[in-house]
This record gives sequence, C-alpha cells and structure tokens, in this order.
Amino acid sequence: MSELIKIEDVSVKYGNIEALRDLNFTIEEGDYIGIIGPNGGGKSTLLKTILGLVKPYKGTITFKETSLKKSNVKIGYVPQINELNRKFPITVKEVILSAKLPINMAIFHKYSEKDIQEVEGVLSTVGLLDIQHRHISELSGGEFQKMLIARALASNPDILLLDEPTSLVDMNSQKQIYSLIKSLNENMTIVIITHHVKEITKQAKKLIWLEKNIKSCGDPFEVYKFAYLNPTEQPGGKL
Ligand code: ADP
Repeated sequence: MSELIKIEDVSVKYGNIEALRDLNFTIEEGDYIGIIGPNGGGKSTLLKTILGLVKPYKGTITFKETSLKKSNVKIGYVPQINELNRKFPITVKEVILSAKLPINMAIFHKYSEKDIQEVEGVLSTVGLLDIQHRHISELSGGEFQKMLIARALASNPDILLLDEPTSLVDMNSQKQIYSLIKSLNENMTIVIITHHVKEITKQAKKLIWLEKNIKSCGDPFEVYKFAYLNPTEQPGGKL
C-alpha cells in the first residue's frame, strides 16, 4: 500500500479550546480506518482538518507527499445529517447532480448526458435509483444517508470521509450502509467516524481511538481490547 495522506504533529484549537493535540498517523491507499471515541473527542474536527475546512495551529497534512491541490487527490465527504437542511425543496437526483456543478455555476446550468449517466450509476450503487425523483423531505433517515453517500461518490473520489453515517438510521439501513461501505473499499480508501464500535471492529482494517490525542491506533481487535480492558475510558460509552 502507498501513502495517501500523512498527518504530522497536527494540533487544532477553537479559541482557547484545544480539540486535537499532536496527531500523527498515515492513511494508506486502500485503507479502511474507523475513528471511535467519546463525544467532543475531536473526531469531526479531524475530518474537517483533513478537508482543509479547519486549519491546524501546529503540524502539517500532506497528500501523496505534497499539498492537496498539487496531489490531485479527490476527497468525498459525508457530513453528519444534522448539519443539513432536510426541508430544502429539492429531489434526490437534483442533490446528486448538484455535485456535478462547476465552481462558477451558471444559473441555468445544463448537465451533460455523461453527468446524468454517472449520477444514475451512483444512485444505483447506493440502491436509490427507484426513488430518484422523490423530494428529500420524504426520505427515511437511511435513505437520506445513502443519498449523502451517493452525492460524495458523484465526484469520483479517491478517499471517502464519513461522519457518523449510521447514527440516525434504523438497524436494517445500518447493515446496508456498512455493507455498502465495505464494497466501496474495494476501490476506494475509507475513513469513518462511528459509535458502532462492534460493527466497525469487525469491518475496518485499522481503528483509531481519538480523545483529543490518539489513545490507541492499529489492529481493530487490539484497539477494541485496549478500550474494553480500560472500562473507565471506554470510547463512546458502552461497547
Ligand atoms: P466529536 O466529533 O468527537 O464529537 P468535535 O470535533 O465535534 O468532537 O469537537 C471537539 C471539541 O471542539 C469539542 O470540545 C467541541 O465543543 C469543540 N468544537 C467543535 N467545533 C467547534 C467550533 N466550531 N467552535 C468552537 N468549538 C468547537
């Protein structure tokens, strides 16, 4: 496996609050990394820092040994559902198509046939082709989450960052989403924040337990055991 993203001595503060301290780890191409830890442990901040939305006050992040821009590494991001407005009057297909908008968007942008075919492809991958014309306010939690994954996939990313994609969905959708992510990992690097520690321990290639700094990192079962054998420090509560 070759190095995709390298995080070196990264520390992040919001005002006086230190959210991340001295993080060091590498994301390899083809990796599947689960990030676990308590609320407020800095998990979302870590993804936002990788995306460049939050700037570290110390340390560096390199992409294929250079900057994100120069590397051409494409990142897909699936944010937490509660950060999005579900009342917005738009259909499932329009949400995915919007990922294809050029940066200098024309008001009446016309999508190409290729864009439309690619969007239908990702809708089929996540199992939403049949409901592509449905208004987003009519979706279940699981369908909404799959739509967000499809939107991130529409830009054909090298790496997919997911922030708790299974927290507000029913058990059945949880299983479907984990199985979808596992199959996406055949062609794509995955980093996922989750509280479903058992599920991610079975599925990920590496786990990181984050609580401002990295408490434990590596083989999922070792990290799980470390967390389990330190009951006062369990990530995200009950295992
Ligand atoms: P997690 O995703 O593990 O729950 P976060 O990354 O959301 O953790 O938060 C880490 C810490 O940073 C928390 O103390 C949180 O209150 C704080 N924090 C997160 N976002 C902001 C922000 N935009 N402004 C100020 N503090 C923030």
